[in-house]
Amino acid sequence: MPSVFHDARERLKSLGKLSGISATVIESLSRPRSTLCSSLPVLMDDGSTQYFDAYRCQYSSHLGPCKGGIRFHPNVSQDEVQALALWMTIKCAVVDLPFGGGKGGVNVDPKTLSRMELERLSRSYMRAMADFIGPDKDIPAPDVYTNARIMGWMRDEFEVIKRHKQPAVITGKPVNLGGSLGREEATGRGAFLVTEFLRSKEGKAPEDIRVAVQGFGNAGYNVAKLLFDAGYKIIAISDSKGAICDAAGLDVDKVKSFKDKDRSFDSDYCKSSVCESETHKSISHEELLALDVELLVPAALENAITIKNVNNIKAKWITEVANGPISAAADEILHARGTVIIPDVLANSGGVIVSYFEWVQNKAGYPWSLDEVRTRLQAVLKMSFDEMWQYQHQSENTSLRTAAYAKALSKLEQVIKMRGTKEYFANTEN
Ligand code: NAD
Repeated sequence: MPSVFHDARERLKSLGKLSGISATVIESLSRPRSTLCSSLPVLMDDGSTQYFDAYRCQYSSHLGPCKGGIRFHPNVSQDEVQALALWMTIKCAVVDLPFGGGKGGVNVDPKTLSRMELERLSRSYMRAMADFIGPDKDIPAPDVYTNARIMGWMRDEFEVIKRHKQPAVITGKPVNLGGSLGREEATGRGAFLVTEFLRSKEGKAPEDIRVAVQGFGNAGYNVAKLLFDAGYKIIAISDSKGAICDAAGLDVDKVKSFKDKDRSFDSDYCKSSVCESETHKSISHEELLALDVELLVPAALENAITIKNVNNIKAKWITEVANGPISAAADEILHARGTVIIPDVLANSGGVIVSYFEWVQNKAGYPWSLDEVRTRLQAVLKMSFDEMWQYQHQSENTSLRTAAYAKALSKLEQVIKMRGTKEYFANTEN
């Protein structure tokens, strides 16, 4: 299996070529600008010190300061962080944000830490990165196994180091610490909205759409909840521990209450699982992905669908809420088979769009209402979806992913060319 960054880069090259982007531009986007690696010392509750490998990648700042989440997970590596930062670069360009792409992470299983160890780890990350990031350089946010509280600790640590208030250094903060209303739900809401745009183009009723959701965290829960409330039939849900299925439909709020049962015990990570929802049949992770559904929503980690299991996939539509849930090779097979895929760079962009709103509110010192946030989010996504849809329908045999990359890359190409190319300086540019 190729590395996730290798896969992301190969996809960039092939989609760039398909979209007619100049080779010089693709070459310049094929490598990260810089990645900082650090070993974070953390004082554990038993008095020992443990070290955790941590990363922050600033992939591209062509369109503005770098932007991207911080992940706490045992699979985090420099390779993964760089792939995620490349996708952030594309994503911010797809939805016209004045941001480049970045990403960070710590190789840790945060579920094994106490609350105080988690706080010390979060502050240690910020101490290591404080000179690298900043409100006009690189702005982190939450990702897998990080949350608003962790963003609040990190903001606080940054301000202790810099000795002045800088709320815009990080987004996804608690609302009472400078966060934005609507940020918590934003990734799920964005994914819901783009699925709704697709549904209205295809003229289907929500009740006729059976859905399987892989991953039931911030993004997975919020998209499942909105789809459920809109009348879609959620027949399967999974988390890291397993999956449940009910052909008659699951009640998303009930599943959530099972999962949340132990949340407040001694950690910010719930110990319960969706599998504790007693009334439903347990199935395996692979069985969930292979269900006969109209819509599959992968909302966990990269490479859920690869060449190994792609032939089992029966879903007609896939909304990619996770980053990179389908490998490049599997993607080609699904496209050839006619599966409609709303690509991650648009489907999960609600999070970074509302992070941008939070950054704007912090800089202006003027908070917006929830209504205003939701209305603006919908407007940005509608415009981006329609552009992608139109491009796809004007070009033969093009996927929505190719259409999204074509828009993002042509935007980046214009900016890179504006700085001056060989052809410009030789006066041969047409
Ligand atoms: P989270 O930590 O809130 O939740 C992750 C969920 O995935 C948990 O329910 C966990 O149990 C589950 N999970 C982990 N491994 C699994 C597996 N093998 N099978 C099934 N479930 C599994 O994380 P999140 O913020 O919801 O992020 C999920 C995905 O969405 C990631 O790919 C992330 O990069 C992407 N994303 C998140 C945001 C955001 O704002 N949070 C924004 C854009 C993209």
